[in-house]
Order: sequence, then C-alpha cells, then structure tokens
Amino acid sequence: MGFYVTTPIYYVNAAPHLGHVYTTVAADILARHHKQRGEEVFFLTGTDEHGEPAVQAAERQGITPRELGDRNAPRFKEAMEEAGAEFDFFIRTTDPEHEAKVAEILQRVYENGHVYAGKYEGWYCPRCADFKTDAEIAEGNTCPIHHIPLEWQEEDNWFFRLSAFQEPLETLYEENPDFVRPRVRANEAKAFIAGGLQDVSLSRSKISWGVTVPWDPSQVFYVWFDALLNYVTALSYARPGEDLTDDFWPANLQLIGKDIIKFHGIYWPALLMAAGLEPPQGLFVHGFLLSPAAEDSEDAEGATTLEKMSKSRGNVIDPFEVIDQFGADALRFYLFREVSFGQDGPVSAAGFATRYETELANEYGNLANRTLSMIGRYRDGTIPDTDVDPVLAPDFEGLAERVGELLAKAEITTALDELWQRVRRLNRYVEERAPWQLARDDDKSEELDTTLRSLAEGLRVATVLLHPYMPPTAQKLLAALGQRDDTLDCATYGARAGGSAISKLDPLFPKL
Ligand SMILES: [Zn+2]
Repeated sequence: MGFYVTTPIYYVNAAPHLGHVYTTVAADILARHHKQRGEEVFFLTGTDEHGEPAVQAAERQGITPRELGDRNAPRFKEAMEEAGAEFDFFIRTTDPEHEAKVAEILQRVYENGHVYAGKYEGWYCPRCADFKTDAEIAEGNTCPIHHIPLEWQEEDNWFFRLSAFQEPLETLYEENPDFVRPRVRANEAKAFIAGGLQDVSLSRSKISWGVTVPWDPSQVFYVWFDALLNYVTALSYARPGEDLTDDFWPANLQLIGKDIIKFHGIYWPALLMAAGLEPPQGLFVHGFLLSPAAEDSEDAEGATTLEKMSKSRGNVIDPFEVIDQFGADALRFYLFREVSFGQDGPVSAAGFATRYETELANEYGNLANRTLSMIGRYRDGTIPDTDVDPVLAPDFEGLAERVGELLAKAEITTALDELWQRVRRLNRYVEERAPWQLARDDDKSEELDTTLRSLAEGLRVATVLLHPYMPPTAQKLLAALGQRDDTLDCATYGARAGGSAISKLDPLFPKL
C-alpha cells in the first residue's frame, strides 16, 4: 500500500514564514506516520514560480522572475529541511520536466474538447493571481484577502469549460462526502458549485512568464493551472529513470489552506477529469495561524486583534529563530498542540514558552529523565525483566489503533492530545508508586521492578507514537531506552521485553 501526500507549492515572491512551515510539517507528520505503518510513502512539496506575483516581486527587486526563483526556491527548501520535513521531492514549476508535462496534459484537455477561445473581462487581484467573482469583491473594489485595489482586465484568452463539470463535481461530492475535510469546508465548495460554475480563463496573453500554450505560443497558461498540475507532473520525474504516476496517483491526501479551496476543491478535480485523470482521494483544509497584531493596530480599548500571519500584513514571526534556539521538534509540537489542526488559532512567543516549559520540559522531558535516572540508580542501568504493571494496561489498550485512526483522518491535534494524556498518566503513576520510597524497603523490591519496567515501557510506547511529531527527540529517547524500533507494530504496552540496558540521556528539552 502507498501513501502520497502533498503540500501546496509556495510562491517565491516572499521569504518562507511560519505558515509555510506549518503546512509542510503537517504533511511530514502524516508521511512519517504512514512510514511507521510500513507503507511506501511519497511526500511532495515545492515552489510556484510562475505568474504575476513572481513577476511583480522580481520587478520590485530589479531582477528577472527566474533569478527570483533561483534565489528563493533554495530558501524554501532549506527552511523545510530545518523544520525537520523529510520530503521525497521538492518541485519547482520552472523545472523543464514540469513545464513539458503541463503542456502535454493541457494539450490533452484541449484535444478532449474542454477548451475554447474567448474574451475575458473582470476584476483581477494580481497577488491572488485570480479573477474575482462578484461575491468575492470586498468594499471599494478591493481584494478581501489582500486588501488591495482590484484591476479591471480585458484580454483574449483560452477558456476552460468548467461549466461542463458542474454535474460531475456534484456527483464527486455526493459520492465522497469526505472528499474535502473538515466538513464545513466541503460545504463551502458545494455552495460555490451550487451557485453555478462559469468557465474560467485558462491562459494569459499579457504576461510571458509561464508555460507556453502549445497550440497558441502567443499565450502562457494561467499560473493556477500550471501550479495545480505539479501534484501530477512531479511523479513523472521525481526519481530519475522512473515514472511513479501509476504507483501514487491519485494522491491520498492533499493539504491546503482555506484560502485556496476554490482552486483545489473545484478547478482541480474538474481539470483532472478533463484530462482523463482521477481526482485525489481527499483534501484536508487547515486554518490560519493567527498572530497578535503589531501594537499600532490595536483598537482604542487596547485589545489585541488577531490577524492572519502573512508577509503582506506585516506581522510575520520568524519560526527559524525558534528552531535555532529550541529545536524544530519543540516548534512542531507547539504548532499542533496549540491550534487544533483544521481550525484557525492564535500562536505567540509567550504561548510557545509556556508549552515548552510546562509540557515539553516538565511533563515529557522530566518523565524521561526521571525514568532513566531511577533505572540507573536503583537497577544499575538495566530495565527490570519482569511483567508490566496491569494497572496501566487500560490506559494503553488500543492506543496505537486510536492514534492511527485519527492520523488517517489528518486529525493531528486530537491524536497528539491522546498521546499527551498518556504522558500525564505516566507522571501520575510515578507519584502514585513513589519509586524512591520503594527503593528504601527491601521487601518492595519486586514492586520497584514492576514500577520501573512499566514506566520504561509506557514511555517507550508513547515515544514511538510521538515519533512523527518529534522525530529526533523520539529517536534519542528510544536509543537511551535501548529499544530503537519505532514501527507501529511495537507500539503496544508490553510488546517489548525488559532486560535491555539503558544509556545516558541529556535533557531532551532543557529548561529556559
Ligand atoms: Zn488577493
């Protein structure tokens, strides 16, 4: 069985920020979980380098769009690596293989009769690279996302016959109610479809930075069609000499932000059908991370307003400072612990510090260090080879299955909640058993054996399941427990025998 997960590809017109890291880490957590199941995984991320946003950003910097891509794409790639993302391929839409494949697929759409010549007139946001429908225009003819004036554009374009896919899309949503999750987002897409689909512009004549339309070299494809196709084109050249399309398409899960539902929930499946390809199995729409706005935007009462974190709104926070100081695992944990994945929620430096101190350092880090140091002190560094304490069995019964079910639905935060309850349960178990008291009484030696063995085993199971969230931390701790196996098969309380030698472990999350 295979698992193919994608992130949106990121515009190279700005530097990588927390929002990009967020989506990529989510995909990484899911990819790593599926690897733990022993599945063949393909995880794709990359950069969107064509279109007007790139042209305008390059102009502002006095360079060509290609130079902009060459400068910024590696920064995105490095940023994702710094965040611990283990992607299989990083696509750039300027890759010649991608461009050739886009032309090939859209030529097929043309030959299948889904394209015609027409004239486009409408209000256009250059930052969205999108023509706005009447319902999408904010007060004063502005973009509701970017708060900039829209531009009136008229040009001769090639059109994609989206209207012909009204019924097929309705059927897709009807037959597959989980095609878009959470459900509230599916309802948005369905409402858009129910409003009646209009044909959309497939090409642009006024800009030249893009993939040339093969049947009309005076035009380039509208950037969104070029960009969407990356999810398919990548499979054809990611591994030199191999074509992975049949192995991994349709994608199992595509992660997107809620601002690009129209493109992914409507244009994308329609385009795939027009090309004779299957739609993805599912899309998961995450929310926005909200950041306390800059002081000067506080209202009269001084209340902090929360705004979408984005370069264009001037309230960016730098995730890379956090990674430098605390490590990527701490940031990964915080993002999915603090904000329920799928919803909007606030993140802040203060919130990070609190979670770091109370949960990572005090609850998890301390549990690990206490457990290892007591085994060192009381049992010469060997996990007692005895049965696990049945009192903890109900807490771990079915845990791996439950976490697996949740992650299969991309419920990353709920799965983490489940795991953290077990970390807390183990801390309570230490207090209940008070091993330091058992150690003073020779008659309690067996009880101490059971306690230490059960702590080590509970910690091992929780850590195996936490591995996708905090890979290097989990690996360090499992190595210190002398039990490096991190596959899902071994994530059962009591699955591994005692008797292994532990080794020294530096604090996983040193106190501030
Ligand atoms: Zn816009």
